[in-house]
Amino acid sequence: MSTGSTLLVTFDGLRRDRATADLMPNLDRFMREGSNFINSRSVFPSETRVAVTSTMTGCPPGSHGVVANQFIHPVRADGLFRTAEWDDLELAAQAGQLLDRPTMGQHMAKAGRTMAVVSTATKGASRMMNSSAHALSQPVFSMHGTPVSSQDLHQQVLTRFGEIPAAEAPNTARMTYATDVLIGLVYDTYDPDFCVYWMNDPDMSSHAFGVTAAQTAQAQKGCDDNFGRILDWWRAGNGPENIIVMSDHGQITGQRQLANLDIIPAEFGRASIGSFSGLYLHDTSDQNKQEVVDWLTRQDFCGLVFATAANGAPIAGALPWSAVRNNHARGADIGFTLRATDCSKNYGPDIDACIFAAWISPGGGMHGGLNKGELSTVLAAQGPAYRSGFTAEAPCWLPDILPTVLTTMGLPLDGTEGRPLVEALAGADPRFGLVPPVETRLLHAECNGHEQYLRQWIVDGQTIVDCGWTAGTGAWSQ
Ligand SMILES: [Zn+2]
Repeated sequence: MSTGSTLLVTFDGLRRDRATADLMPNLDRFMREGSNFINSRSVFPSETRVAVTSTMTGCPPGSHGVVANQFIHPVRADGLFRTAEWDDLELAAQAGQLLDRPTMGQHMAKAGRTMAVVSTATKGASRMMNSSAHALSQPVFSMHGTPVSSQDLHQQVLTRFGEIPAAEAPNTARMTYATDVLIGLVYDTYDPDFCVYWMNDPDMSSHAFGVTAAQTAQAQKGCDDNFGRILDWWRAGNGPENIIVMSDHGQITGQRQLANLDIIPAEFGRASIGSFSGLYLHDTSDQNKQEVVDWLTRQDFCGLVFATAANGAPIAGALPWSAVRNNHARGADIGFTLRATDCSKNYGPDIDACIFAAWISPGGGMHGGLNKGELSTVLAAQGPAYRSGFTAEAPCWLPDILPTVLTTMGLPLDGTEGRPLVEALAGADPRFGLVPPVETRLLHAECNGHEQYLRQWIVDGQTIVDCGWTAGTGAWSQ
């Protein structure tokens, strides 16, 4: 066990306000007894592969370049680039166009330390937890087998624990299997300095049954029971020094489905339609962007709109990409969310809702946009590096996790852009315990009576998005 060694446990798709003592007693207690970051946020778009990559590079999407779960990428000249797919990621990696920033796996290799991944997530999400793991000989176990898993580890797991249970919602059988692998094999065999353990519930069950459904509550309990097993093992003196728990985003209710995905006139250019949609225009002039924004803001599906002029200013009626830290050369010319409820004052698992594009049935959970229910995440930590019983009020987000871990390891933050969450750190370093300055800012844009708002925090000079909403003719209507 090395200084700062850390296990990062993720509950995929867990809204902060659903991490209650009733539904998840082990997690609730862990949060209260450790350092609890009560204003933690995801990134935009609030999609899993974007969130994973932001976490594992310590950078926002505008810097690492995985700008959405699916987008238009030069390596897929005539289709969508789908980050869930191993082949698409491999194509981009071979072209040197997957990631523009180093990953935690590379930081660990450079420092002569080790990293492991145990994941129940998709092939793509598991890949992005350590995108160059195989080249660095860092072990990965995925439910999907090779080429996501390391071949030798996968074989050891099957020999030791038998066949992998089938995926189902709730996916508790797979969580239990993955926990067995984590505490029964991976730590004993590799003793990783940094380890990612990823549970794909409650996300999977929440998509299928809804945010507050009984089956989703059951999935949360399954995850929490397994987290309890990990805590028992850890408190008996096994594993890492520190444990961090996070969720990658929340979910809101997908209330109404678009009649079809063909919502953008073909003459505008190519489109990737989802909770977050990107338009890649044939004509990228400021004048054409303005015309498309004018058109978009008249559509009853349109939520918040992002577009930046050649000189970096926002297109009138839209917000600039920089406002959501997603300004990247591989990004779309214009992006928009599907309309959702106004979360500026009131939000909660029972009332947050949105229009959705595909993949779920009405009433199922959805995410990807800027509603507070999608952006507010769980983040808490325990271990010798962290203060106990500490409520951290300073806003933070996924890119802050890696710089925090590197700081507890005493390693340089090279290439990361997040903020080490020093207010929660214990130790002699004079920075530890200092709370950063925080300002709030409200951005606003208006076009054709369609109004949009984005509430930001400026923490130590860095922008974090609290949430966004629309009003006027852009207001939610059921
Ligand atoms: Zn997710």
